[in-house]
Amino acid sequence: MFVYKENNNVKYLVIEEFEKTNLVNHCFSTRIGGVSVGEVASLNFGFKRKDTKENVLENFKIISKTIGVDYSKLTLTDQVHKADVYVVTEADAGKGITVASDIKEIDALVTNVPNIPLVTFHADCIPVFFLDTATKSIGLAHSGWKGTYENISKNVIDKMKVEFGSNPNDIICGIGPSILTCHFEVGEDVANDFEERYGKEYIKMYNKPHIDLTSIVEAQLRNCGVKTVIQSNICTYCNKNIFYSYRGDNHKTGSLISIMALKG
Ligand SMILES: [Zn+2]
Repeated sequence: MFVYKENNNVKYLVIEEFEKTNLVNHCFSTRIGGVSVGEVASLNFGFKRKDTKENVLENFKIISKTIGVDYSKLTLTDQVHKADVYVVTEADAGKGITVASDIKEIDALVTNVPNIPLVTFHADCIPVFFLDTATKSIGLAHSGWKGTYENISKNVIDKMKVEFGSNPNDIICGIGPSILTCHFEVGEDVANDFEERYGKEYIKMYNKPHIDLTSIVEAQLRNCGVKTVIQSNICTYCNKNIFYSYRGDNHKTGSLISIMALKG
């Protein structure tokens, strides 16, 4: 279950099942508790949004302190709506924050190295959390509609199998706040592509077709053998007072993050 927490005036979500393992520090952010102003007020993490670099870095410091991870080792994706996964090692610590990054065209990160906080960015696109309690390894994915169509979640699981010897039975997954069926309207062409690949049960007809992306991601995870999938069932568009929503805010918005590190 995803639950809200408030600490340091910062509001964020944690997955209770992840907390209970005591293996990770993690959260999904909200827009509440940072220093940014205007359309990105106030806890914006997007460097490409209408914000200053100083404010964004300050927000990263705030969230790191709030959940107890090492700011200097935050390791970021660049996210290009593809489905490639990058294995983070000690040599990558801090890339995108304290050192220049050569992590390119990557939408998901995995690691088994303790104390390196992985970070993915979101503002409607689905955040997926992966925790293998047996091999003590983790992953984060940015599963936008393109990444969901390309099944980035399966790519993460496959990478964890190869790199860490993970068994999907031991991996618990969380699907965080994103744009849900109520607000994810698409054109006929996209609806047809999804129907062809995943089945018509995921297409809901309003005035125009809407796609149930989070149910597709859950099915993708279960098809890989994951037994525990925790859905937040929170729509970013419906709750744009708490979350940035790219569609809900007419593209004038900030960026949320998933963040997760293995404890040392
Ligand atoms: Zn909605």
